[in-house]
Amino acid sequence: MDKSLVGVDLGGTQVRALVCNSEGEVLRRAATLTLAHEGYEAVLRRIHETIVEAVGPLPWTEIAGIGVGAPGPLDPYAGVVVHAPNLPGWDRVPLRQIIADRFCLPVALGNDANLAALGEHRFGAGRGVADMVYMTISTGIGGGIISGGELFLGRGGYAGEIGHQTILVGGPLCGCGNHGCLEALAAGPAIGRMAREAAEEGRGQALLDLAEGDVSRITARVVSQAVALGDPTAEEIIRRAGTYIGIGLANLANILNPELFVLGGGVTHVGPLLFDTIRETIQKAAMVASRDVRVERAALGDDVVLLGAVALIGRATDRNVYGNV
Ligand SMILES: [Zn+2]
Repeated sequence: MDKSLVGVDLGGTQVRALVCNSEGEVLRRAATLTLAHEGYEAVLRRIHETIVEAVGPLPWTEIAGIGVGAPGPLDPYAGVVVHAPNLPGWDRVPLRQIIADRFCLPVALGNDANLAALGEHRFGAGRGVADMVYMTISTGIGGGIISGGELFLGRGGYAGEIGHQTILVGGPLCGCGNHGCLEALAAGPAIGRMAREAAEEGRGQALLDLAEGDVSRITARVVSQAVALGDPTAEEIIRRAGTYIGIGLANLANILNPELFVLGGGVTHVGPLLFDTIRETIQKAAMVASRDVRVERAALGDDVVLLGAVALIGRATDRNVYGNV
């Protein structure tokens, strides 16, 4: 029987771990709060404890390795978390080596959005597809590129930042310091901002009603609820966000010629209006030869990074390469 694999997702809110077989079937899982404000060593201890709890009574000799997803930017070749805005004190932490030393097992590290791409490719909507791009649309826009069946990492391992392509010159300021990035135009906070601006201009009564008359409480979630009620202003905002995302994906279609775009993250729950707008925009903006790209919803839900971490360490142990995945 194949050995089991451990996947870990180090998030700003939770540390989660699961144990899978090589087919991605979950055998056991564990989770705890990250409590990042308690500092780097406390979080490291919780990572170790969560792995131990997830493995539980299983014999350690039956564990082939541990895959770890952490927020970027990180260096997947060296296994180092370079800087994590949501994790104070995490600057140039050699996380792969630390976990490998603690458990005496092979460990591979990847950034969470890249691993989500790998997870959907191995176990989710992208199974059997050689060339695909995964995009997550939530509080930010991240992604990962699978090219020829392999995760495309780039020279330093920082590739796949598809949310930081400039879509609108002179557009809103992005968290990365640039103006007009896709993330600054179409992620959840941008959708909330567009909705608040509309409400302040006296449009979108449904938005205001759902927020109990308080403009500051209008978020992307409220926009989604208003779309479900058929509110035309909310629909217009989602079409605008969908157009920006469609332009971003049309750029990627032209550059990479993928077979499939897989879209995940909270904003995608707004439903068909977003997906229809994205597909229509790609049909208009991409070159004819690349327009046959499919756009599908992610399949793995909350486990996507964990399963991507499992896929990462699964590949690494198969090939006996760690840190150069
Ligand atoms: Zn940016």
